[in-house]
Amino acid sequence: MFYLLILLLQMKLIKRITDLNKAISKETSLGFVPTMGSIHKGHESLIKKSKKLCNKTLVSIFVNPTQFNNKKDYKTYPRNLSNDLAALKKLKVDFVYLPTVNQIYKKKRLFKINLNKSQKVLCAKFRKGHFEGVIDVLDRFVKIISPMIMFMGEKDHQQYFLIRNFISKKYTTKIYACKTIRDLNGIALSSRNLLLDNADIKTAGLIANKLIQLKKIICKTNNFDKNGLKKIKQIINKEKKKLIKIFNIKIEYMECRNLTNLSRDLQNKPFKLFISYYLRNVRLIDNF
Ligand code: AMP
Repeated sequence: MFYLLILLLQMKLIKRITDLNKAISKETSLGFVPTMGSIHKGHESLIKKSKKLCNKTLVSIFVNPTQFNNKKDYKTYPRNLSNDLAALKKLKVDFVYLPTVNQIYKKKRLFKINLNKSQKVLCAKFRKGHFEGVIDVLDRFVKIISPMIMFMGEKDHQQYFLIRNFISKKYTTKIYACKTIRDLNGIALSSRNLLLDNADIKTAGLIANKLIQLKKIICKTNNFDKNGLKKIKQIINKEKKKLIKIFNIKIEYMECRNLTNLSRDLQNKPFKLFISYYLRNVRLIDNF
């Protein structure tokens, strides 16, 4: 505890907006890494990138209630503040922002956030209101913090895609996407992995490797016209059935979408294979 206190003396811990304003008012090259805590190597890669590209780095830890479409999920979301602070100190983060829910949502929104029809795909289709909540909170954070760059993970590609779209229209803040960091067995690091046991982690690793192979097979077909897409859909559906049977998982979606507008058109566009599935009652997402 004493050791932790000494460490914290060198890192500015900020809880109130007025203190935040004072602390960062003169920062013109501020990198911002928003997180929901339970810091892992995925978060760390964003922080390291921020430290490389910006003079100062601010990390927020805020489990945002408005992005949970399920109360139990919000309640059971892993929270590990003292470990997080020690990890952030080790990384020499300059500012840690820990606001309360009341502070962030004190001001009512003037305009409701709505996704358009083409955006209501993948996670937006299955987690009603989730991205509206994410956009709302990050809009509020960017307004308060005015960072030069906000760092986000490709693991949550749809989140990055929607936020970049929204923020770039309203602010000068740039959004930087960082590569997905994986465990040695292939599973994407995630705070939710703390809800899995060893057998689950092994299963998720096996699934990730199957999907890496599947993506290679899809790329090899090298035909993305109407007939090609039909064939790809058949290949994916066959693999989907196998995964459900072998690993006893529930798959919400498993499909290829391009990275330009997230539509199913893959012709001459970079694309990824996106998946969301439940391993027991834990919802995991990834893309390859
Ligand atoms: P979270 O705390 O889960 O809200 O994540 C905070 C940020 O870290 C988001 O931009 C995520 O996309 C990013 N992130 C989470 N997991 C990883 C990972 N394995 N690799 C890279 N970035 C990640």
